Amino acid sequence: MSNILDCAIIGGGPAGLTAGLYTTRGGLENVTMFEKGMPGGQITSSSEIENYPGVTGEITGMDLMMPWPEQCQKFGLKHEMIEVTRITKDGDLFKIHKADGKTDEAHSVIIGTGSRPRRAGFKGEDEFFGKGVSTCATCDGFFYKAKEVAVIGGGDTALEEALYLAKICTKVYLIHRRDSFRSAPNTVERLKRTQNIELVLNSVPDEVYGDKMGVTGIKVKNHEGEIRDIQVPGVFTFVGNDVNNQTLIQEDGTFLCDMSEAGEVIVDISMRTSVKGLFAAGDMRIAAPKQVVSAAGDGAVAALQAISYVDELLN
Ligand code: FAD
Ligand code: NAP
Repeated sequence: MSNILDCAIIGGGPAGLTAGLYTTRGGLENVTMFEKGMPGGQITSSSEIENYPGVTGEITGMDLMMPWPEQCQKFGLKHEMIEVTRITKDGDLFKIHKADGKTDEAHSVIIGTGSRPRRAGFKGEDEFFGKGVSTCATCDGFFYKAKEVAVIGGGDTALEEALYLAKICTKVYLIHRRDSFRSAPNTVERLKRTQNIELVLNSVPDEVYGDKMGVTGIKVKNHEGEIRDIQVPGVFTFVGNDVNNQTLIQEDGTFLCDMSEAGEVIVDISMRTSVKGLFAAGDMRIAAPKQVVSAAGDGAVAALQAISYVDELLN
């Protein structure tokens, strides 16, 4: 077998693991997934997932992801536990630069290094993360059905998620540090028309507090320094998202492929980037729904494209 990989997969979350399954099962013989930690991705930090199709019962993110690597290995996926520092391309060959200073070569690359929600930086945010503080309404909103919640942020994500939560929860407090929003005007209009959303403007979170069971409330401070105590079991923060795109940054500071202003990889419907042979999948690609099922779907699409690409390149 040649030392050149048919496909290098960067990231071992739902996108990377599904890409691993489809590339190997679909006939590529020499595929390695590079994952800097344990495979499974962000969802392994979630205490409960109930929106992965076909999976019923109370399971954790870790439970969900545990069998995925084993399934891939059965079809020949190799796994290297190492951080990839940079991906470059020279002619038709990609170079995978690794944290140990070594490099590997590959005919194609599927990158699925995910993203990370920004933290707002208030007291209690880290302590109660996953215990009442959340960054995912689609994932956790249902746990607050018929309860009151607080949402922090004034961008499109915060407003759209507040509208989503308002359909599930009895009341949503939308806490924003200014009195105008970044969000699209029609979204702001919808927000203002929604009876069970109370706007708490010119205010920042001061502290989230709770007990062993989780969050019980949030204290917010307005511009006059007055503190308001809002008693809610759930606090959703939507203060922006950072895509893990560092491996695409080249020596001269430019990106290997076209990126959106927000730093997401621009892909077409087949997960193809602007660079031939380079595919992106999951949370890091533009307009990602940021769900396990969609990341997995992206991984499968990218893998099928990678198989065709390598086939055409080598035959
Ligand atoms: P990730 O899961 O982020 O995986 C990326 C992987 O790449 C990581 O394992 C990381 O270690 C690795 N990596 C990053 N950089 C490098 C590098 N340079 N070299 C090597 N490896 C690297 N979704 C749902 O559908 N339902 C839910 O209920 C739900 N709940 C959630 C709860 C929480 C607390 C969080 C944080 C997320 C939740 N999500 C949920 C969202 C879901 O986890 C993500 O949409 C999904 O994991 C994205 O998959 P991904 O493969 O694109 O990226
Ligand atoms: P964003 O536009 O950067 O908004 C982040 C919001 O969080 C801002 O209102 C910001 O306040 C606030 N914020 C930031 N740091 C904070 C902190 N530490 N404490 C309290 N508040 C804080 O992020 P986003 O909403 O995730 O959107 C990201 C991009 O995706 C945007 O370009 C957005 O338009 C796009 N998007 C589009 C859609 C859509 O088109 N339907 C949907 C979702 C996202 P300030 O306003 O005061 O800075």
